[in-house]
Amino acid sequence: MVKTYISLGSNMGERQKYLKQAMALINEQEDIRIVKVSRLYETAPVGKTDQNWFLNAVVQLDTSLSPEVLLQILQKIEHDLDRKRDIRWGPRTIDLDIIAYGQIELTGPSLTIPHPRAHQRAFVLMPLSDIDPSFSFPNGEKISSLLAELNNSKQQVLFFGTIDVMM
Ligand code: ATP
Ligand code: MG
Ligand code: MG
Repeated sequence: MVKTYISLGSNMGERQKYLKQAMALINEQEDIRIVKVSRLYETAPVGKTDQNWFLNAVVQLDTSLSPEVLLQILQKIEHDLDRKRDIRWGPRTIDLDIIAYGQIELTGPSLTIPHPRAHQRAFVLMPLSDIDPSFSFPNGEKISSLLAELNNSKQQVLFFGTIDVMM
């Protein structure tokens, strides 16, 4: 079993419902077990800023799936929850990204792990830090130092609440 972190984000429709449904669908998979769920954060869009605020969370999984198969399953769940891919970084019902997969580092045409932009995104690091405040990326970067560096980056991340999910 490999300890894996997935980030979840939604900025369309009933955002919390999409997060909850995605968590349930992830946990339903054979070979995946959700071990921990972060709190929820409401966050200003980054990159493409003319869209609704997001709700974000991170979950910790134990999985025996390979990173590639895990990505396929997450993409199927995105599709089943009406994720459309038209505008890059545009509005979405659900986005499921693999942030880290054990201590593995890999770069490929369709999958890069750790997620290449995670270390600069407060909307990923804040919920990840809820689950594992001593987390480090395989290159040794500590979540506490990364968050400290982001302190004056003006990324808006507001505590939103907790999510109750029956696992
Ligand atoms: P960002 O990657 O900046 O968060 P995004 O999540 O909106 O943007 P998507 O449209 O969800 O981007 O995904 C684009 C492609 O990213 C996917 O088709 C997938 O192959 C690729 N990808 C590469 N690395 C990862 C990863 N670690 N997790 C999820 N998708 C990844
Ligand atoms: Mg993403
Ligand atoms: Mg994505």
